[in-house]
Amino acid sequence: MQFYLDHNATTPMCEEAIEAMAQVQRFSFGNASSVHSHGAAAREKLEEARAGIAELIGCEPGELYFTSGGTEANNWAIHGILENYARCAVVYSGIEHKSILNAVENQIWNVPVHKILVREDGLVDLGNLHYTLRTLRERPAGGNCLVSIMLANNETGVIQRVSEAVSAVKPHALVHTDAVQAFGKIVVNAKVLGVDLMTISAHKLGGPKGIGALYVRDGVEIEPMIRGGHQEHDRRAGTENVAAAVGFHVAARRRHQVLDDYQERTLLHVRELVEALECLEDTWINGAGNVRLPNTVNIGFDGVNSDSLVLMLAHAGISVSNGSACEAGSVGGSHVLKAMGLTDESTENAIRFSFSDDLPDGAIAKIAAEVIEAVESLRGMIDIPL
Ligand code: PLP
Repeated sequence: MQFYLDHNATTPMCEEAIEAMAQVQRFSFGNASSVHSHGAAAREKLEEARAGIAELIGCEPGELYFTSGGTEANNWAIHGILENYARCAVVYSGIEHKSILNAVENQIWNVPVHKILVREDGLVDLGNLHYTLRTLRERPAGGNCLVSIMLANNETGVIQRVSEAVSAVKPHALVHTDAVQAFGKIVVNAKVLGVDLMTISAHKLGGPKGIGALYVRDGVEIEPMIRGGHQEHDRRAGTENVAAAVGFHVAARRRHQVLDDYQERTLLHVRELVEALECLEDTWINGAGNVRLPNTVNIGFDGVNSDSLVLMLAHAGISVSNGSACEAGSVGGSHVLKAMGLTDESTENAIRFSFSDDLPDGAIAKIAAEVIEAVESLRGMIDIPL
């Protein structure tokens, strides 16, 4: 029995994307910047992919820049704006992915940074955002600032009120959203959200690893982070990864074709699991009561060390995680749960289940039985042979 329930960490590639990438590697292998016919063939594929993804997120193709993934796009959004907008301040939340936290906290321009509060239910506190922005407007340097709030959290799945945040801070701030987890799981439209910058990534929705994109609204000035040739309109140098861009597009298109069904099925898996675990006492859902990604549930088990639970479930063939894969190996509980105000102990009691839409019938009952057994054994209620 093997169940992979860690789709927020990464997903297997969909067959259509694998096949489309193989075709590009075989037949459209040219350098997309070369002027000859091989280059033109690759360029055509690249631009087709860009236009297709742009359509899915509701922007113009010229507003979408391919990157090596979500991490690069997040770093670029922060550093590319700070380099360009002098006297800017950065406002961000404590539940952001490490690629935002570390980009903000390690910037070289020494601009002021403000971490806004997060409510216990996992929502970024928009009241605190208002207050922070008002305080910033009063400073002598003026109110220019960059706000970065993710669209959906990778650990809890909680969907943030990004368009409300945009209305609250305009016209004093540029807004970036990290939509890596949201894209492909819910409808994501950059124009409807009203953001100026938005990050997406391929490997969370059945596409290849190592490719993502940054939406940069027309008119926003951003400095390149990677300098070199003229690729991506002089904004992101490096020979374009055409096959990966095509794989990204094909996977994203496929997911959007079945999005309603994907949402229904994954939500059903989450509900079934939660119901099946109701027999366990002292168990809670982090981010309960909020609109969450349909495929994600983060469950706390009082008195259970999540590292041990993850290992026990892995031993039983069930792959889940406690926190982001990027933080594996770091000591202490999840920074997301800490930002939500959980006690240190509770942050170490939680694991994330992130589903795909293709679990076989009866799978949830087997998974729940393993979880119950592992939790009871870790709570010292039963002995199971390892
Ligand atoms: N942002 C979020 C919310 C993520 O969950 C991840 C990946 O885990 C990233 C950014 C980084 O994306 P990538 O793995 O493409 O670098």
